Amino acid sequence: MSQTPSAWSPSSWREKPIAQDVTYGDKAHLDRVLSKLRRLPPLVSPTEIDRLRSQLADVAAGKAFLLQGGDCAELFDDCSSGPLEHKLSLVLLMSLIIIHGSRLPVVRIMRIAGQYAKPRSKPTEMVDMPGPNGVEKKEILSFRGDNVNGYDPTDRQPDPDRLLGAYFHSTATLNYIRTLLLSGFADLHKPLDWSFSHVRSPEIQQAFGAVIDSLKDSLDFMRVATGGAGGNERGGMETVDIYTSHEALLLEYEEALTRRQGPSVTRSGQSTPSASPIRSRPDPNLQAHGDKYYNVSSHFVWIGDRTRQLDGAHVEYFRGIANPIGIKVGPTMEPAELVRVLDVVNPDRIAGKVTIIGRYGAGKVDQYLPAHIDAVKATDHVVVWQCDAMHGNTKSSITDPSLKTRHFADIIQEIVRSIEIHREKGTILGGVHLELTGEVNEDGFSVTECIGGSMELEDKDLSFNYRTHCDPRLNYEQSLDVAFLLADHLKS
Ligand code: PEP
Ligand code: MN
Repeated sequence: MSQTPSAWSPSSWREKPIAQDVTYGDKAHLDRVLSKLRRLPPLVSPTEIDRLRSQLADVAAGKAFLLQGGDCAELFDDCSSGPLEHKLSLVLLMSLIIIHGSRLPVVRIMRIAGQYAKPRSKPTEMVDMPGPNGVEKKEILSFRGDNVNGYDPTDRQPDPDRLLGAYFHSTATLNYIRTLLLSGFADLHKPLDWSFSHVRSPEIQQAFGAVIDSLKDSLDFMRVATGGAGGNERGGMETVDIYTSHEALLLEYEEALTRRQGPSVTRSGQSTPSASPIRSRPDPNLQAHGDKYYNVSSHFVWIGDRTRQLDGAHVEYFRGIANPIGIKVGPTMEPAELVRVLDVVNPDRIAGKVTIIGRYGAGKVDQYLPAHIDAVKATDHVVVWQCDAMHGNTKSSITDPSLKTRHFADIIQEIVRSIEIHREKGTILGGVHLELTGEVNEDGFSVTECIGGSMELEDKDLSFNYRTHCDPRLNYEQSLDVAFLLADHLKS
């Protein structure tokens, strides 16, 4: 069944059936918000977006590794210096460990500065609420993320002003990340302040310690080789690229931040100067962007597993933007359907354009990933294969079934099996996609949402510092554990 695609525009998705839609009571209010959003300036530039796409082409070719991570859902209240510093430093440390082990450059994309909207399995939920006769069970709208409604059960009506809240919180977040990076936050010449006191097993402590010693050695060597830490030029080892990403779920918002970039914008035929957090020089490997549409709210956006219908509104929106995109793929995706989606979103076969984000679950990856690889291999599509080791591995806690959790062992198993399956098939696992946080409570303790890892968290420990309002995240220590294990597996 082949169809000629109809004309695309940032709003052509409105003609298609849409999953996970939000119903707003006051349409005039929504329109006022959207016209304001359409006037607001971009958060990221086409030059940065094109640079990421070219780096992802390297990932697809096995020349770099993609680390993508962050919260399941950001909250407006977490837009504050401490939590942002913790998130950024964790991703930087993980990337350092992976680079050291794998000897590959790492492309870092965070689920940040816009990861607010959440798809839900049910539009409503039952909660206990105080009523005239004491506490009563009440059915209320589900929490859809801070850009739609509030987590508080009394604040569940969708409010269009939250879309503006999302824009401004994204802006503040991104501004702080850029500021940190420009101020030397990512300077690898700074002393590494590692503590492994959380690691229970002496063998693992020793192994981690050895990696860090060797890492420090390499950095010392580089300091001497490059003539000291106070070099004149930015770039190199003093700072790094950080890219942003979110699930592009609320298409009204994404449409309002989709901007046409005509060739006339690039003066005298040259690529526009880099607005990257780090590099002040244009990248000569990049061509000036032509007449294209860019989603300027984020560098990378992805389609969720619940909204990737071939004839649906989200696939329609995604097929027209020049950003690199992700497609979540789980057990319910037929191999032939996967190829049809790729044909629609990447008709020009642009390298680095599409990342397939597998989220099968440790127990299912062997059953479903091989057929997806075979189907794509039989085409001329070149994709980044990424393993989201979180979303197929969510379980209920045994001690408190109201808490969702994930087992570290399942997460590692899905990553390792993905690496092995790709090796057997002659393809490459290009990256991982993780829900993680470096956040700590007032006493400095990491969150306790996933079970296992070198600190050996148990089911009964979960309630100690369980903070997520959405999916359970790897904590600081567990995330570093993943990085060490990844580094080890990517070595060979
Ligand atoms: C997510 O990434 O938070 C998510 C909801 O994933 P998925 O669409 O794969 O279920
Ligand atoms: Mn999630």
